[in-house]
Amino acid sequence: MKALITGGAGFIGSHLSEALLARGDEVFVLDDLSTGSIENIEHLKPNPGFHYTIDNVMNEPVAAELVDRADVVFHLAAAVGVRLIVESPVSTIETNVHGTEMILKLANKKKKRVVVASTSEVYGKSVAVPFREDSDLVLGPTSKGRWSYACSKAIDEFLALAYAKEKRLPVIVVRLFNTVGPRQTGRYGMVIPNFVKQALLGHPITVFGDGTQTRSFTYVSDVVTAILLLAGNSEAVGSVFNVGNDGEEVAILDLARRVKQRTNSRSEIALIPYNQAYEEGFEDMQRRVPDISRLRALIGFEPKVSLDEILDNVIAFFTSDQGRL
Ligand code: UDP
Repeated sequence: MKALITGGAGFIGSHLSEALLARGDEVFVLDDLSTGSIENIEHLKPNPGFHYTIDNVMNEPVAAELVDRADVVFHLAAAVGVRLIVESPVSTIETNVHGTEMILKLANKKKKRVVVASTSEVYGKSVAVPFREDSDLVLGPTSKGRWSYACSKAIDEFLALAYAKEKRLPVIVVRLFNTVGPRQTGRYGMVIPNFVKQALLGHPITVFGDGTQTRSFTYVSDVVTAILLLAGNSEAVGSVFNVGNDGEEVAILDLARRVKQRTNSRSEIALIPYNQAYEEGFEDMQRRVPDISRLRALIGFEPKVSLDEILDNVIAFFTSDQGRL
């Protein structure tokens, strides 16, 4: 099978490329290297089944040719990471909305199957945990930049589902919950790579707010497994799926302690007020836990990698040559 991965030089995209190549598929990556990096796919270049194009998904002739060639499209290209969203709101909204518009429009010409990557961020500040796919989305005001991310991805979902319903395009939406693993950079705010780097360098481990907010982390290989099983299942078409790990909800302050302990670090743990960490009036979500019963029921998914294993793998990555602190 021929797969197009937009955002294929990103953290998750590069792992997905690897998995597809490993099972003998041909992979075409389209990535503008805005947040992805060529280093993420360097090791894949010698594989004869691997092809890449450095360009933006909004470049229609380029995207059109690649979509045309593919049997299935994994649309992962997006602006992600809270720091990036707060600092570059215009490109976040434009990339997330127009990029998805473009891919869906092109895929629709020959009804190519598309997996659209969305995010648990769409649940916003809902307190109805665990989040189910049919739960309400609770977003803050438009004056707070953070919510533009959730809103832009929610528009992607509406559009994907509209194409599925109105035009019979075979679309699957996956809402990814805090995904972690090697090659994820801390540059755009993600907490685990940041904590691990800080701990290894002996810098203060920066916990934002009071650290009582919780998250549930999923290892990238579990996410890739779920995405591939969904993509291959016709019953998944037209639906939204939470992809996450419901096994271990952790408070961010406890996470900092665990990273410190597992790295044998002497770093202090520093509590940083949100308005210093991001911007004045920044709103965080207090808890984020997925309900993955829909995923379990359809594909029998069970997350395999525990939080401690996730941390050890990320620590190993940052202490390897590839991680380069
Ligand atoms: N966070 C933190 N220190 C950091 C980066 C993030 O305490 O250096 C917190 C952040 O405020 C949030 C949680 O860790 O409560 C997860 O942040 P991340 O940006 O990884 O993902 P989010 O769940 O916010 O999308």
